[in-house]
Amino acid sequence: MHYFTPKRCASSRKIMYHDKAQAEFAAREAFIERGAELWVYRCDYCSEWHLTHHGPREERLLRGMDRYAASRQGKPRSRKRGFKPRKR
Ligand SMILES: [Zn+2]
Repeated sequence: MHYFTPKRCASSRKIMYHDKAQAEFAAREAFIERGAELWVYRCDYCSEWHLTHHGPREERLLRGMDRYAASRQGKPRSRKRGFKPRKR
């Protein structure tokens, strides 16, 4: 077992990682252990790396689109009578 007391950012109170690889490793562990999807970003205040639940902007946009698509396609409406699947 390894005991290490992580330093925490004075501003965000998040655990500080010295390099990106370390943060990404921690993010992967969190995902494996808790199924938590975390993102790595560089802090403006301490210029170390932190983990966040919020993804990059593009990723969030994509997810928003996914959710939108899912809301439209996720619940299949009862098929109209006489509906014929299109042949390919
Ligand atoms: Zn910070």
